[in-house]
Amino acid sequence: MEQQIIHACGHQQAHVLYGFDSQVARKARWLRTTKCRACFLADKKAEQIEATARDTATVAHLILPPLTGSERQVAWAETIRIKRLAALTVSPHTSIDADCNLCLRIYDAKWWIDHRDLANEDLLDQATRHLQIAAMPANGQQSAAA
Ligand SMILES: [Zn+2]
Repeated sequence: MEQQIIHACGHQQAHVLYGFDSQVARKARWLRTTKCRACFLADKKAEQIEATARDTATVAHLILPPLTGSERQVAWAETIRIKRLAALTVSPHTSIDADCNLCLRIYDAKWWIDHRDLANEDLLDQATRHLQIAAMPANGQQSAAA
Protein backbone atom coordinates (compact mmCIF):
# COMPACT_ATOMS: atom_id res chain seq x y z
CA MET A 1 0.00 0.00 0.00
CA GLU A 2 1.03 3.60 -0.56
CA GLN A 3 2.53 5.52 2.33
CA GLN A 4 3.58 9.13 2.59
CA ILE A 5 7.08 9.19 4.01
CA ILE A 6 8.74 12.31 5.40
CA HIS A 7 12.39 11.90 4.43
CA ALA A 8 15.48 13.03 6.33
CA CYS A 9 15.71 16.05 4.01
CA GLY A 10 12.24 17.17 5.13
CA HIS A 11 10.46 16.38 1.86
CA GLN A 12 7.44 14.13 1.63
CA GLN A 13 7.31 11.38 -0.97
CA ALA A 14 4.80 8.60 -1.66
CA HIS A 15 6.15 5.05 -1.53
CA VAL A 16 4.41 1.80 -2.33
CA LEU A 17 5.54 -0.70 0.31
CA TYR A 18 4.86 -4.43 0.05
CA GLY A 19 5.23 -7.28 2.51
CA PHE A 20 4.17 -8.20 6.02
CA ASP A 21 3.30 -5.39 8.41
CA SER A 22 6.61 -5.74 10.20
CA GLN A 23 8.54 -5.55 6.92
CA VAL A 24 6.55 -2.51 5.78
CA ALA A 25 7.18 -0.79 9.12
CA ARG A 26 10.90 -1.55 8.92
CA LYS A 27 11.11 -0.29 5.33
CA ALA A 28 9.19 2.89 6.25
CA ARG A 29 11.52 3.47 9.21
CA TRP A 30 14.54 3.09 6.96
CA LEU A 31 13.08 5.37 4.27
CA ARG A 32 12.63 8.12 6.88
CA THR A 33 16.41 8.08 7.44
CA THR A 34 17.15 8.59 3.71
CA LYS A 35 16.78 11.56 1.39
CA CYS A 36 13.87 11.85 -1.07
CA ARG A 37 14.47 10.94 -4.69
CA ALA A 38 14.78 14.56 -5.88
CA CYS A 39 17.38 15.36 -3.22
CA PHE A 40 19.23 12.11 -3.91
CA LEU A 41 19.46 12.93 -7.63
CA ALA A 42 20.47 16.54 -6.92
CA ASP A 43 23.25 15.30 -4.62
CA LYS A 44 24.46 12.90 -7.27
CA LYS A 45 24.50 15.59 -9.93
CA ALA A 46 26.40 17.98 -7.64
CA GLU A 47 28.94 15.23 -6.92
CA GLN A 48 29.43 14.65 -10.64
CA ILE A 49 29.93 18.35 -11.34
CA GLU A 50 32.43 18.51 -8.49
CA ALA A 51 34.31 15.44 -9.78
CA THR A 52 34.46 16.89 -13.30
CA ALA A 53 35.76 20.21 -11.96
CA ARG A 54 38.41 18.35 -9.95
CA ASP A 55 39.44 16.25 -12.97
CA THR A 56 39.53 19.31 -15.23
CA ALA A 57 41.90 21.02 -12.78
CA THR A 58 44.08 17.89 -12.65
CA VAL A 59 44.57 17.85 -16.44
CA ALA A 60 44.67 21.66 -16.87
CA HIS A 61 48.35 21.49 -17.90
CA LEU A 62 47.61 19.18 -20.85
CA ILE A 63 46.78 20.45 -24.31
CA LEU A 64 43.69 18.54 -25.34
CA PRO A 65 43.40 18.23 -29.11
CA PRO A 66 39.88 18.49 -30.55
CA LEU A 67 38.01 15.21 -30.94
CA THR A 68 36.25 14.05 -34.08
CA GLY A 69 32.72 12.65 -34.25
CA SER A 70 29.16 13.87 -33.96
CA GLU A 71 28.50 16.83 -31.67
CA ARG A 72 26.94 14.53 -29.08
CA GLN A 73 29.78 12.01 -29.24
CA VAL A 74 32.39 14.73 -28.91
CA ALA A 75 30.68 16.33 -25.89
CA TRP A 76 30.44 12.97 -24.12
CA ALA A 77 33.91 11.82 -25.13
CA GLU A 78 35.48 15.05 -23.88
CA THR A 79 34.13 14.38 -20.38
CA ILE A 80 35.36 10.78 -20.56
CA ARG A 81 38.80 11.85 -21.78
CA ILE A 82 39.22 14.34 -18.92
CA LYS A 83 38.16 11.72 -16.39
CA ARG A 84 40.48 9.05 -17.79
CA LEU A 85 43.47 11.41 -18.14
CA ALA A 86 42.95 12.60 -14.56
CA ALA A 87 42.90 8.97 -13.41
CA LEU A 88 46.16 8.30 -15.31
CA THR A 89 47.74 11.38 -13.79
CA VAL A 90 46.86 10.17 -10.31
CA SER A 91 47.96 6.56 -10.87
CA PRO A 92 49.96 6.22 -14.11
CA HIS A 93 50.56 2.83 -15.68
CA THR A 94 54.04 3.60 -17.06
CA SER A 95 54.64 7.32 -16.47
CA ILE A 96 52.26 10.26 -16.46
CA ASP A 97 53.85 11.77 -19.57
CA ALA A 98 53.95 8.52 -21.54
CA ASP A 99 50.41 7.54 -20.63
CA CYS A 100 48.91 10.95 -21.34
CA ASN A 101 50.86 11.47 -24.56
CA LEU A 102 49.62 8.14 -25.85
CA CYS A 103 45.99 8.91 -25.05
CA LEU A 104 46.19 12.46 -26.40
CA ARG A 105 47.00 11.00 -29.83
CA ILE A 106 43.52 9.50 -30.04
CA TYR A 107 41.08 11.94 -31.58
CA ASP A 108 38.20 9.58 -32.27
CA ALA A 109 35.31 10.42 -29.92
CA LYS A 110 33.79 6.98 -30.48
CA TRP A 111 36.98 5.30 -29.29
CA TRP A 112 36.80 7.15 -25.97
CA ILE A 113 33.15 6.24 -25.55
CA ASP A 114 33.71 2.57 -26.44
CA HIS A 115 36.63 2.23 -24.03
CA ARG A 116 35.37 4.43 -21.19
CA ASP A 117 35.02 1.59 -18.63
CA LEU A 118 38.37 -0.13 -19.17
CA ALA A 119 40.97 -0.31 -16.42
CA ASN A 120 43.91 2.07 -16.95
CA GLU A 121 46.19 -0.74 -18.11
CA ASP A 122 43.66 -2.06 -20.65
CA LEU A 123 42.87 1.45 -21.85
CA LEU A 124 46.55 2.02 -22.66
CA ASP A 125 46.75 -1.39 -24.34
CA GLN A 126 43.81 -0.53 -26.54
CA ALA A 127 45.22 2.93 -27.25
CA THR A 128 48.52 1.42 -28.41
CA ARG A 129 46.68 -1.05 -30.65
CA HIS A 130 44.43 1.68 -32.06
CA LEU A 131 47.41 3.86 -32.97
CA GLN A 132 49.25 0.92 -34.54
CA ILE A 133 46.26 0.11 -36.73
CA ALA A 134 45.89 3.79 -37.68
CA ALA A 135 49.58 3.89 -38.67
CA MET A 136 49.28 0.90 -41.04
CA PRO A 137 49.15 1.61 -44.79
CA ALA A 138 45.65 1.36 -46.25
CA ASN A 139 46.47 -1.78 -48.31
CA GLY A 140 47.30 -3.69 -45.12
CA GLN A 141 50.95 -4.23 -46.11
CA GLN A 142 53.62 -3.38 -43.61
CA SER A 143 55.92 -0.79 -45.14
CA ALA A 144 58.65 -3.32 -45.96
CA ALA A 145 59.36 -1.94 -49.43
CA ALA A 146 62.19 0.56 -49.50
ZN1 LIG B 1 14.25 15.99 -0.39
